[in-house]
Amino acid sequence: MSVSILDALRNAQHNFRDNFSTARIIAAEQLYNAINLLEKGYATHDLIEPLLQEYGNISAVPPKPPEHPRCGCCGSKRIAIRGRHPNEPKRVICPTCTAERLDDIHKQSDPSYGIACAAEPVST
Ligand SMILES: [Zn+2]
Repeated sequence: MSVSILDALRNAQHNFRDNFSTARIIAAEQLYNAINLLEKGYATHDLIEPLLQEYGNISAVPPKPPEHPRCGCCGSKRIAIRGRHPNEPKRVICPTCTAERLDDIHKQSDPSYGIACAAEPVST
């Protein structure tokens, strides 16, 4: 059975209410696991067992990777925006690169784009 971090905290709270020493040892481990994962950036709804199976113990679990990694092009923080159409998943974009691309599109779609200058004939 896999429990979330929040479930582990609740289980630990329940076990501390018992006076049996075995339950207190289990509760101490549950608290250690939950607090350690929360400190590493995991959320209360994240499951503990998959992390334990992958890394062996809680102290070996790496910090939770950011949900939206930085842009591979400019390094800016990426953001999630709505899908292209209703009910489509959110898209993760770089606002910096998107703004620069839009600036380029505006520049290239200008009627005067590519015209060097409007030279006036020189009168002698
Ligand atoms: Zn970027």
